[in-house]
This record gives sequence, C-alpha cells and structure tokens, in this order.
Amino acid sequence: MPVDYSDKYMLAPITRRQDYSPTLWTVWMKPPEPLTFKAGQYVAFGLNNNDKVLERAFSIVSSPYEPELEFFIEKVPEGALSPQLYQLDVGDCVLMRKKAKGIFNIDVKSGHSQHFLISTVTGIAPYISMVRTFQRDLREGRLAQPFRLVVLQGVSRSNEFGYDRELQEVAGAYPWLTYIQTISRPWEDPDWKGERGRVDDLIRKYSDSLELTPESTTAYLCGNAGMIVNARDILRRRGFEQASIKEETYWPPGEGDVEY
Ligand SMILES: Cc1cc2nc3c(=O)[nH]c(=O)nc-3n(C[C@H](O)[C@H](O)[C@H](O)COP(=O)(O)OP(=O)(O)OC[C@H]3O[C@@H](n4cnc5c(N)ncnc54)[C@H](O)[C@@H]3O)c2cc1C
Repeated sequence: MPVDYSDKYMLAPITRRQDYSPTLWTVWMKPPEPLTFKAGQYVAFGLNNNDKVLERAFSIVSSPYEPELEFFIEKVPEGALSPQLYQLDVGDCVLMRKKAKGIFNIDVKSGHSQHFLISTVTGIAPYISMVRTFQRDLREGRLAQPFRLVVLQGVSRSNEFGYDRELQEVAGAYPWLTYIQTISRPWEDPDWKGERGRVDDLIRKYSDSLELTPESTTAYLCGNAGMIVNARDILRRRGFEQASIKEETYWPPGEGDVEY
C-alpha cells in the first residue's frame, strides 16, 4: 500500500527545466497548495526511496510574488538525492514539505542601508529571490528607503553563474544593485574578461572600493562551507560584528570540501 505523506508533504510537479552546464540546472514547480515564504528562505523536497522520503533543503529562487517555485540545483556526483533529481523532467513530481523555513532574510533590524550578498554557485539562489522581491516592492511603492545590494558570485567556470544575465540587466537598470562575478578557473575560460579568483579574495577589494563599511553594511554568506569560513574571518578582521554576518551553509564545514 502506498505510504500517505499528505500531512507534511505535497506532490509538486515540475513545470519547466533549464540546464546551464552538465551539473547545474533550474527547475520550476507548481505545488497544488501555495507555499508561504519570505525571500531568502528554503524548502525541503525529495523523492520516495524505499517508503522513506529522501529529502534535502533548497533555497527558493523565485520571489513570493511569483506563481511558481524556482530552484537552482547542483548535481553532486556522489550525492544521494541530487543525481536522482537530475533525472527528473517536466511532469515528474517531488515530495515537497508544506512549510518553508529559514532566517536567511534581508536584515531590516539593524537599519543598515547596504547589503553585501556573497555566494558560490547555487548560493546565489536566495539573493535572486531578494532582488526580484525588492524590484517589485519598489515598483509598487512598498519600499521607499534608500538601500544598496552588492552581489558577489564566485564559480569555477563561466557557464555556472545561472542568473548572470538577469542580474546584469537589473544592475544596468537600477542604481541600487551592483553585481560582481568571478571565476576561479580562468585558464579553462580564455575569453573571460571579468574578475578572477575566489570570492573571498575579492571581499577586501570591493568592501573598500564600494565603501561597504561595518557601520552601514550587513554581509550575507551563502553556499560552499569553506568559502563561508574564510569570508567570515575576513569580514570579522575588517570589523564586522558576528551579528552583521548572516550565513546559509549548504553542507557542514569539513565535509565534502570542494574547490570553489
Ligand atoms: C538551507 C540550505 C539550502 C540549500 N539550497 C540549495 C540550493 O539552492 N541548491 C543546491 O543545489 N543545493 C542546496 N543545498 C544543498 C542541498 O540541500 C544538498 O546538500 C545537495 O543537493 C546535495 O545533496 P545530495 O543528497 O545529492 O548529497 P549528500 O548525499 O547529502 O552529500 C554528499 C556529499 O556532498 C557534499 N555536498 C553537498 N552539497 C554539495 C555541493 N553543492 N557541492 C559539493 N559538495 C556538496 C556533502 O557535504 C556530502 O559530503 C542547500 C542546503 C541547505 C542546508
């Protein structure tokens, strides 16, 4: 007899899929019940494996204003779930939790007007939700205060950014967004004209040149655990209080340490 998961989970069909590289893709899903969430939150979803739900957390890319949920996913070759998710296509379903979770949201408590959003690869996901939400709130008059978002994204190769065109467009259209991209394996990308090296190597440079001072700035770190440890140290040495550094670690530090 099939297991009844209906109290905690809903069956969410995939409505669209876009691939960027052999290991990175975006899926859109339309669950039968709306999921209430704030920009920056995540939801767990997965698949039935031997009558148990094999599930993982995924940051929500879409803004709460959008009709579908969007996720930017990386296939971890030796991983339990992500290679199974990679096999799914339009029409297939995942078991999705009915509640979103997380406190990785824009800091509105400190009064800081600047937000330094630092990420590796799929760690860009919550920032896309924040940017889309800000854009809509500004357009519809729900946000008036002056603020600035600076997004710094690091990947290995230039086909791993996923959302670079969208961020470039918004940054070109609005003065409140700055988008900086860096790749850590430029020798594999001879035509690359942007920044080179890891995101932590660029934190000092851009916090100086863009005047992202601890007095006016909250920093956000999302993605690779090793990057988060290094970036936190750099920010602390620059005078950022721990309360002004928000973190979303995608896997435990020391586990599966990968180049970024
Ligand atoms: C709050 C939160 C939000 C997250 N959001 C996203 C997201 O938006 N997109 C996304 O792709 N993932 C996201 N993750 C990671 C995701 O939950 C899974 O850990 C990831 O999909 C791997 O699951 P798996 O079952 O394939 O691998 P597992 O079997 O769980 O892990 C295998 C090994 O891979 C390591 N590992 C996990 N993720 C990665 C990675 N990306 N690169 C390299 N090594 C890794 C693990 O530490 C472990 O050693 C998020 C995690 C958290 C906690």
